[in-house]
Amino acid sequence: MDPGLQAAFRHVERLLMGDMAHPGLTLHELERLVGYPAKGSGPLSYTLPPSPELKGVQAVRLFYYPKDPALQLIVEVEEFSGRRHLRHFRWNGFTWEVPEGHKDLRATEELLGFQKVGEDYFLGFSREEARELAGALRRGEVPGAKYLLCPKCSARIFYAPGTNPVGVACPACGNPTLLFKTLSPGERKDPLEALAEEQKALRQALEELLAYLKRKLGP
Ligand SMILES: [Zn+2]
Repeated sequence: MDPGLQAAFRHVERLLMGDMAHPGLTLHELERLVGYPAKGSGPLSYTLPPSPELKGVQAVRLFYYPKDPALQLIVEVEEFSGRRHLRHFRWNGFTWEVPEGHKDLRATEELLGFQKVGEDYFLGFSREEARELAGALRRGEVPGAKYLLCPKCSARIFYAPGTNPVGVACPACGNPTLLFKTLSPGERKDPLEALAEEQKALRQALEELLAYLKRKLGP
């Protein structure tokens, strides 16, 4: 790993977890930094002030998600090249811990800016926004939504109005050639919901068949 990046990660780790000389950042201190709740219910962000440890990177930002019980803090380290590295944390009452499924602080996790919710990907949305949008999509409430479709693995990538979808590669399979699509009304892709609907239709067909047979054959 690049030494500037490595120094920045060490700095962040010391800041969050503490060391022999300093205690780690508490949830309360983080809330003070980002201005919660004065500035709203989040997500809220705070950019670390410049310091010698951070001179090898463009910026280090803390994003606080007060309403998310599973993921409360995202640390973003941005390189001079614009490449970003994200680390996810949850406050367990005493210290910051890494939620399951996420890598530890030093592991190199590529960031593409995608949020995955269910089967879909969301580009340029916060975790909360992506979840909300995913819910609305499931309920069929956003006809006309623009998305990219991967013709290879049929992943769908919904993108925020401010993002540039040109040149985006599929986050699931890496295919660089994606199709521009617009969600048609009534289109859904929740597999569980589709299955439930299929079962309901099947049950109804069976009931109709039984009723027909009863009529035909008598009791
Ligand atoms: Zn794909």
